[in-house]
Amino acid sequence: MTKVVQIGDVKIGGGNFAIIAGPCSVESEEQILEVAESVRKSGACILRGGAFKARTSPYNFQGMKTEGLELLLEAKKATGMPIVTEIMSVNHLPLYEDVDMIQIGARSMQNFELLKAVGRTDKPVLLKRGLASTLEELLLSAEYIMSEGNENVILCERGIRTFERYTRNTLDLSAVPALKEQTDLPVIIDPSHATGKSSLVESMAMAATAAGADGLMIEVHNDPENALSDGAQSLTPAQFDEVVRKVKKIREALD
Ligand code: PEP
Ligand code: MN
Repeated sequence: MTKVVQIGDVKIGGGNFAIIAGPCSVESEEQILEVAESVRKSGACILRGGAFKARTSPYNFQGMKTEGLELLLEAKKATGMPIVTEIMSVNHLPLYEDVDMIQIGARSMQNFELLKAVGRTDKPVLLKRGLASTLEELLLSAEYIMSEGNENVILCERGIRTFERYTRNTLDLSAVPALKEQTDLPVIIDPSHATGKSSLVESMAMAATAAGADGLMIEVHNDPENALSDGAQSLTPAQFDEVVRKVKKIREALD
């Protein structure tokens, strides 16, 4: 049985399955409130949204930063959903006081000072697997957090880099049972960054559920075509609603 990690009043692990959803980036008050309300209605229980963004190019949208954090808190208030958002720097930690779960992105998985700093807080941490990191390295990064005293860690497989270019990354679904053989931490799958294509998200969300994941993290945007980041992999609210419906069916079949 996996360990239970509690985020606000939402539990992940130990038989509790949770869906995290929201836009790649917070873009405006209207956008985050609209997406938050729609994903909540569909059955998501935690809201995601990037404020400080880790972008490959410095010329791409870098996020709304502190203003983005404020808008997420507004959406939390409006919907009652706990929020998760990525931290990029140890120096930003004081800004995250009211954030329910801190995300360590794939590119920061081996930023050991950042891992130790979030390990000294009591906030749940969503630790994403690095683009070219082994499962052993992911588990050792989790140890960096836990050895500072914070045991509230959730692991996230989000695809790894292979020679395949059709998909943005290659989803390592075997990471779910393989991690569960080695740790009792909850394991979730991010089919959005794993595939980079909205058309592939539903199948991979269902497969991840069937493979025993404790939850999913899915990017949803009210206008994917005009999204400031990751539009190609973002679901519309209606598509997300359908994914949740199918994932629920898989969960029922597993029971
Ligand atoms: C994200 O979830 O916003 C993100 C940037 O993902 P990753 O770190 O997995 O690329
Ligand atoms: Mn994204």
